[in-house]
Amino acid sequence: MGGDAAARSGPAAPGLGYRRREPERTLLHSTVREHWKTFLAETEERAGASLPRFVVGEFERYLGCGILANGFARVRCTACGDELLVAFSCKGRGFCPSCTTRRMHDTSAHLVERVIPRVPVRQWVLSLPRWARFLLARDPALITRVLDLALRGVFAWQRLGARRAGARDPRAGAVSFVQRFGGALNLNVHFHCVIPDGVFVREEGGVRFLPLPPPSDEDVLAVLRRIVSRLEPLLRPQLEAARADARPLDPLGAAQVEAMQSSRTAQPDAGRAKKRAAYLGGFSLHAGVHIHENDREGLAHLCGYGARPPFSQERLSALPDGRLSYRLKRPLHDGRATLLLEPTELLRRLATLVPPPRAHLSRYHGVFAPASRWRQEVVPPPDAIASPGHCDAAPPPAPAPAATEATAPAGPTRNPRRIPWAELLLRVFRADVLACSCGGRRVVLAYLTDPGPVKAILAHLGLPATGPPLAPARFTAGPAESGWQDEVPELQQSLR
Ligand SMILES: [Zn+2]
Ligand SMILES: [Zn+2]
Repeated sequence: MGGDAAARSGPAAPGLGYRRREPERTLLHSTVREHWKTFLAETEERAGASLPRFVVGEFERYLGCGILANGFARVRCTACGDELLVAFSCKGRGFCPSCTTRRMHDTSAHLVERVIPRVPVRQWVLSLPRWARFLLARDPALITRVLDLALRGVFAWQRLGARRAGARDPRAGAVSFVQRFGGALNLNVHFHCVIPDGVFVREEGGVRFLPLPPPSDEDVLAVLRRIVSRLEPLLRPQLEAARADARPLDPLGAAQVEAMQSSRTAQPDAGRAKKRAAYLGGFSLHAGVHIHENDREGLAHLCGYGARPPFSQERLSALPDGRLSYRLKRPLHDGRATLLLEPTELLRRLATLVPPPRAHLSRYHGVFAPASRWRQEVVPPPDAIASPGHCDAAPPPAPAPAATEATAPAGPTRNPRRIPWAELLLRVFRADVLACSCGGRRVVLAYLTDPGPVKAILAHLGLPATGPPLAPARFTAGPAESGWQDEVPELQQSLR
């Protein structure tokens, strides 16, 4: 839970820094409201099966995100008594623009302030052939194994270099982001790994960072060779098993194949040789981005990029004919600069972006691993953490061993490992909900979740006591107009 949208309940005051977000007014929200039931009915009708529960839940929670009728926190200024209602957010990790944006800021801030020390870092990006992306998209455990093997390849190269430089027992570390998507709402599971450009060694007096020279093009290729030689024996048998499986794909699988096929962005690297990039059998490894140890803003940007939302609301617009246009940052392989989508097509794409439950989107390895005994000595010391000043939580200790996910949005629970939610809102909206325009500080009076009191308070304030209604399903059984389900066998075939 985190505060999200606020409604004024007192008299309007000029200069109020924080305004209600009104998610129900966005094109995405109205599109989902209008077409969600139709999309469900269409899926059932065509595929004879439902979407997985975690996907349905993600949409349902998104529809309630930031809507006061679903509950809120009452926040009051201790100085002037001014009150705000702050609606709850859905904490969605799939496509909710507000929650995925906040997650990006939260993750980035957490990593820069509490995990990654002041050392030079390099981004290593591993991408996979399409057949492998599909396997990984459907199997979170496989994602974990592939990432582990990939990092072992990088770490082995780093340790070798360190030993050659005379280091004894060098240790490497990585913070990795699992991205499930490309720039065109296309399914593309790949990895962004932020890795110190050096290793850690234990010496008398503590742990020291030993910088290593940047990898050459040959080094990157050698690392990729090693990774692919480990991945092929893991992934090929799974591909064979998928091929042998004669059952039709479930609706989510069909949507995944479609999302993988239909909007491939142009190969950014085709035809021009990039530095510190290697390609092998459909796999690629890039290690071209380097951040100086003092460039903490650059590091925050890099981490934010790794944790970025898959969907950008600002790029979505409505066409007069009812279709939607999604502007792309990079053109597709056929030159198109926008995606044109029927509303239910957009919903199908969004469904493929939802990560399965418990599939962590950011991971820690090596010295940053939750169980690593080196972690406490490597992460920034607690006194280096900037105090938010108004924070009511205890000074944060170093991240606790149980944390493997840096990204859970901070809630009102006093979890000292997390950044206070008001500070997160500040990062996202650049306005501090807990700072009153009178100069005083606001405190949370209560969290209201019971429909009775919620409705009563909203009615008293003249605010809508129910969320905006969902349109009924408009799907009628009959000849399917787009026939996407019929294309699936062909798409499956093309994966081979
Ligand atoms: Zn005040
Ligand atoms: Zn949300």
